[in-house]
This record gives sequence, structure tokens and C-alpha cells, in this order.
Amino acid sequence: MNGRKAKAKRRALRERNAQLLATIRAAVPSLLRTTESGHEVWQRGPATIVLPIVPADAPSDLQTALTVNRMAALTTDCPRCTNDVRVTEAGGYLVRHEAACPGDPDRLVELGERLGVDVQRRED
Ligand SMILES: [Zn+2]
Repeated sequence: MNGRKAKAKRRALRERNAQLLATIRAAVPSLLRTTESGHEVWQRGPATIVLPIVPADAPSDLQTALTVNRMAALTTDCPRCTNDVRVTEAGGYLVRHEAACPGDPDRLVELGERLGVDVQRRED
């Protein structure tokens, strides 16, 4: 493949992703079901989103962090950091938080370990 073709392909992919993200953002999220592992499965336009459920008995720091994570995943905009949104090859999307954001999945797991609460990463 020559450089021009590769460039055109990248541009087409960028346009497809921007369009897909606009479609996702324009759609109203709806809850499909909850799983036994304590997650909610939502549909927003063409995207399926898996969110952790906030346990009512969780320590307040953990409740806050989980809520930040959920809001960012559901709206594509994190209330606590300037996040990045990547459209996946499968047509879904991933919210990438800043490293120190409490909504970042790695920070959530660390916080859970510190508090002695099991925070499950979703299996994907
Ligand atoms: Zn964030």
C-alpha cells in the first residue's frame, strides 16, 4: 500500500469513528439488564456499555469513584478529568481517564485494595 492510500484509509477511519461517536452521543442510553457479577449493561445507539453498580454499603470514597467512572462511561465526558474517548474496532467506545482521575479503572481497583473491598474489573 502506498502512502497516499494509507493516508486515505486513516482519514476514512477517522471520519467513521467521528460519525459513530456522534451517533452514540445523540442516542439516549437505556438499561438492558444487570449481570450476576454486579454490572449493568446499557445500550446507547450502536454501543453497548458495561458499568459497575455502586454498592449501597461501599465506603463513600469508593462510591464517589464508581459514580465518576459510571458517569464518564455513560456520557463520554468525565466530570473529574479531561478524558479521551476512543472508538473501538467493534464500534463501541472506551473512555480514557487521566492517570490520577478517581474514575480510572486502575485507580478504582487500587482504591478497592486500599479499602479492602473487592472491585472487579469487567471481563472484556
Ligand atoms: Zn476521569
